[in-house]
Amino acid sequence: MGGIGSGTGIRPNRKRTKQFVETFPCIDTSAFPFSSMRLLPKACQLSIQGVTFQIYPDKLLILQGNSPEALLYEIFFSLTPAHYGNHRYWLKCPKCSQRKRKLSLIRMDGFPLFLCRCCLNLVYKSQNRTQGDQIIHKKWALIQKLGWSNECIPDEAKPKGMHWSTFIGIRNEIAFLHDEAFRFAPFKNV
Ligand SMILES: [Zn+2]
Repeated sequence: MGGIGSGTGIRPNRKRTKQFVETFPCIDTSAFPFSSMRLLPKACQLSIQGVTFQIYPDKLLILQGNSPEALLYEIFFSLTPAHYGNHRYWLKCPKCSQRKRKLSLIRMDGFPLFLCRCCLNLVYKSQNRTQGDQIIHKKWALIQKLGWSNECIPDEAKPKGMHWSTFIGIRNEIAFLHDEAFRFAPFKNV
């Protein structure tokens, strides 16, 4: 990783190689409504995609097979207040510990691992569809950063106090994004 936005403007791995989150099975917090979680029988067991869970009010235990001794790891719930005295359940990603609505399942050497899409480096299909718009937005954000009004950036546009290497990096990036935007949205005003 590293290097992105480091000032050179060179980002060799430009091709979209990310996978779509929709293609991975996932567990969703909507499966754990607060009202029914309170009524949960002790250590309720559930199997999703061949993975066995034991559900507790505060966490999920991920088991290998059916025996309780075969605990692999835990996924903790986090609760935030919602409307009408309700609470919303979140799943805490076992890797980054951030609250998430969904965790996607991958298998590492047969080991079932539930992680958030950020940790898995996944994107939504819808995010990809509007890629042209995102590129245009990014380009204009950079142009504005230089206090300029179009993508043709002369040397005089370098803001005072900005390093030349930073400026050239941004300028290259703007030029790159401009070309990319045309590729994705040829009929739009980029
Ligand atoms: Zn994560």
